[in-house]
Amino acid sequence: MQISGTFLTSKVGQRIALLLLLAAIIPATLMTVLSNQKLSEIITNYEHQSLVEKSRNHALTVFSNLIFARNRFEHEVTSHEHIEDLNDLSVAFALKNVDIFQSIIELSPSGVILHDNQAKPIPQTVLQSLDTLPLNAINLTTWLNKDRSASVNFILRQAMNDSVFIAEVNPAFLWGETSDYPSDLSICAYQLDNKAKTKLFCSSEYSKDNQVKPSPLNNAAWELFLAGEFHDKSWLFETKRLSPISQTHLKELIGSKAYIGVALLSLLVIALLSLIQIRKTMVPLEQLIKGTKRIAQGDFTSVNVAGHSEFSELATAFNGMSAYIKRQLETLQSFSSIDSQIISKNDIEQVIQLVISRMQTIAPDSIIMIAHLEEQSVDEVDCSCTVAGHDALTTIRLSLTPSEIEGISRHQQGQVKQASITSDLPHERVMAELAANDIWVYPIFWQGEICAFISVGSKTTLDDNSPNWPEFRDLASRIGIAIATNEREQKLLLEAQYDNLTGLPNRILLQDRLKLAMEYSERTGKAMWVVFIDLDRFKVVNDSMGHTIGDTLLKELGNRLLAETRDTDTVARFGGDEFVIVLSGDAGENIQLSVLNRIMDTIAKPITLNEHELINSCSIGIAVYPNDGNNAETLIKNADIAMYRAKDLGRNNYQFFTQDLNDKAAERMQMISLLRKAIAHGEFTLHYQPKIDVQSNIIVGLEALLRWNNHTLGNVPPNKFIPVAEEAGLIIEIGEWVLKTACKQMVTWQQSGINEILMSVNVSARQFQDDNFIEKIKLTLLKVGLKANNLELELTENILMDDSEKTINTLNSIKSLGIQLSVDDFGTGYSNLSYLHTLPVDTLKIDKAFIDAITPNTEKAPIVDTIIHFAKNLDLKVVAEGVETIEQVHYLKKQDCDQIQGYIYSKPLTADAATTLLASGKKLTTKHLKLVNNTNKPD
Ligand code: C2E
Ligand code: MG
Ligand code: MG
Repeated sequence: MQISGTFLTSKVGQRIALLLLLAAIIPATLMTVLSNQKLSEIITNYEHQSLVEKSRNHALTVFSNLIFARNRFEHEVTSHEHIEDLNDLSVAFALKNVDIFQSIIELSPSGVILHDNQAKPIPQTVLQSLDTLPLNAINLTTWLNKDRSASVNFILRQAMNDSVFIAEVNPAFLWGETSDYPSDLSICAYQLDNKAKTKLFCSSEYSKDNQVKPSPLNNAAWELFLAGEFHDKSWLFETKRLSPISQTHLKELIGSKAYIGVALLSLLVIALLSLIQIRKTMVPLEQLIKGTKRIAQGDFTSVNVAGHSEFSELATAFNGMSAYIKRQLETLQSFSSIDSQIISKNDIEQVIQLVISRMQTIAPDSIIMIAHLEEQSVDEVDCSCTVAGHDALTTIRLSLTPSEIEGISRHQQGQVKQASITSDLPHERVMAELAANDIWVYPIFWQGEICAFISVGSKTTLDDNSPNWPEFRDLASRIGIAIATNEREQKLLLEAQYDNLTGLPNRILLQDRLKLAMEYSERTGKAMWVVFIDLDRFKVVNDSMGHTIGDTLLKELGNRLLAETRDTDTVARFGGDEFVIVLSGDAGENIQLSVLNRIMDTIAKPITLNEHELINSCSIGIAVYPNDGNNAETLIKNADIAMYRAKDLGRNNYQFFTQDLNDKAAERMQMISLLRKAIAHGEFTLHYQPKIDVQSNIIVGLEALLRWNNHTLGNVPPNKFIPVAEEAGLIIEIGEWVLKTACKQMVTWQQSGINEILMSVNVSARQFQDDNFIEKIKLTLLKVGLKANNLELELTENILMDDSEKTINTLNSIKSLGIQLSVDDFGTGYSNLSYLHTLPVDTLKIDKAFIDAITPNTEKAPIVDTIIHFAKNLDLKVVAEGVETIEQVHYLKKQDCDQIQGYIYSKPLTADAATTLLASGKKLTTKHLKLVNNTNKPD
């Protein structure tokens, strides 16, 4: 078995080890010492008792010998008649008691020895005390002989003859033979006299070498009480070991070494068992400590403790707790990132994605749909649904009925359902299509209103008590908060940036919009207008009719202003009866001028309020960016100044901050009024510019170009008056005149025998969009008597770029009449070439700008090549317009261009000049140029 591990260095481990060892050592040591002691005590006692026993036994033997001897003595003396002959007595004594008595002496009252058989001399002290002895009593008397040997005697003082008998007990009888005594013991008898001890007998002499400290182990004594029986002092029988038992010997006897060995062994076993136990305790404890430290560092790896102990149970509980903390922590982290998302940006999409990703972490195989309820009508609720499943995230739109939504909102704690492809509910169908068997649908409320709902789909069975639902509900509430926050922000934004009364942007938003418009203008290089509108005499309305009517009027006028502007423009309420309109620079100046007129017109339209018909007017001031200011404040201030000028000029008019523009506007107004009368006054004429076939140099067609000669303005070029006519809506009437005139001219030429040429007429966007356009063409052709295939309409790219159904239909209708279609100024509209093949056009007219570029080694030439190549591929005719040099002609010829139109051949010609030219044979070469130019008064 190997014991290793840091548990040994652990303080708790060490402490437990120490305690266990102490707990083992102390009792073991105590037990060892005490048992050792007790055992030694028992053995000592035992040994002592055995010695005492021996002393006692000998004492009792001696005692019985003494009794016996006394009895013999008494018997001998009492049965003995007074013997005169001492010698007989001696013999008698000698014969009968030689083994019991060593000598018997009879003393006469005078002290004369009557009988003495080999008696040792009696000490004088004894003899002197004889008189004191009681009569007829046998006394035991002991004395020491001269040789220090002890003499034990019985003395009897007879009353009858007053003689005294002294018998010395034979030591061999009294003490027994020394050889009978145990050889390893020395048994001695002493007479006790107070504190003095007189040695009477010793079985063996005790060697001085063997002298050891007297101890109960080696020494014992037994006192023989003689006072009762013999009226003498007690005798003490002492037994000593000749080979004393030493302490070492005693220890050996006890087996102390074995004792210590066993104790040490048990200590070792205890230590070993302690270590094993500590290890069993500390290793799992260490694992748990490490696990706890890991948790503190955010590592939730589980702790492994083998076996089936309380520690493994603790580890299981610990792992459970760790997993729980991990989940809680992750939940908190995801909540915090969702919350910070809500607080910082509140991008609902982002919040939804965070919520979904958290849900997928919790329930990895789920399909999750979060439906955000957006637009709601009486019978439909539109939902934007983010769906996540099978590693993909997508957004779809679903429509539910209000009652279906109501059904979802009824289960406020969520509801588990079976998903079915045939379900009436679209979200359930989607879930079923994504292979979900069961779904949990949970509505999200905000302030009592359902604003979203969650669908969680699973292939396995779901139940209402899933442990995931509480966290999902918390996550769902975040979505609710995000939606609500968003709505509130939107509302605040609306309140902060929009005018309460009219709903139009307020001053704050106006500043922003102005900045954007300035940036846009900067990018495009087109001027942006700030139009400051102040209602004329609004105060009168307010004062006379009340503020409510005043408010209604402002609302209505605000709406009208909105209606007259484009989405890209901004109509703001600046305050009171002031509005500011920002006309972004993407429209031409003329269009913007027409907007001004429309604004004046719309304000002037009567309005009925409280049964009163009100006719309003306004004064307008305009500041133009960048000329009239380079920041929002200056622009508004200058527009305001201009507005006051308009007021000064009598109200109901507009004024530019810059005089120059005022002049332009005035000029335009004048032009419009003159144009209105131009047709009636016969001020328009048409000039015709030939188109030449590149290969044959034959005139294949003529383009009708409008000319306006006014008695005030003189000859006004089409580029100047046509846009004004378009904006003023006059182009429709003018266009009709052009078409009719050109067709008539064509018929005239045909009647004079000039055939096989095509009459091209320019058509503006406004004309093309006119609902009656086709009818008008048909009617004109009919009236004039021209065949449709003699007519070509030139449409600019911007008309065709609007690929609406209406445009395509109009084009098809024109084509179906037999009229040819040509794309004018091709290349200027930045259009995608590929759109052309879908349109029913016959010809492309390459814009002059590209033709101008055809000079040797220029980079635009390849564009011309490309257009020609492209047109050929689409089977379209190509006309190059604005050709002015012979090099251009050569180049275009080389590139296989079909027709050429330009000053190189002919400028636009009057009808007469064109007639002359056509009559001359239709063939036109560059040589004619000079002639043509000189004779036909070019433009
Ligand atoms: P457009 O339809 O592209 O007409 C060609 C313009 O280029 C004409 O200008 C013509 O005189 C000019 N031109 C032709 N060859 C040359 C050349 O070699 N050098 C130069 N410098 N110019 C050349 P015009 O007649 O002034 O017309 C200008 C534009 O006015 C026309 O461009 C057309 O868009 C528009 N327009 C003219 N008449 C009408 C009309 O009756 N109705 C409509 N809606 N627009 C018309
Ligand atoms: Mg044209
Ligand atoms: Mg053109």
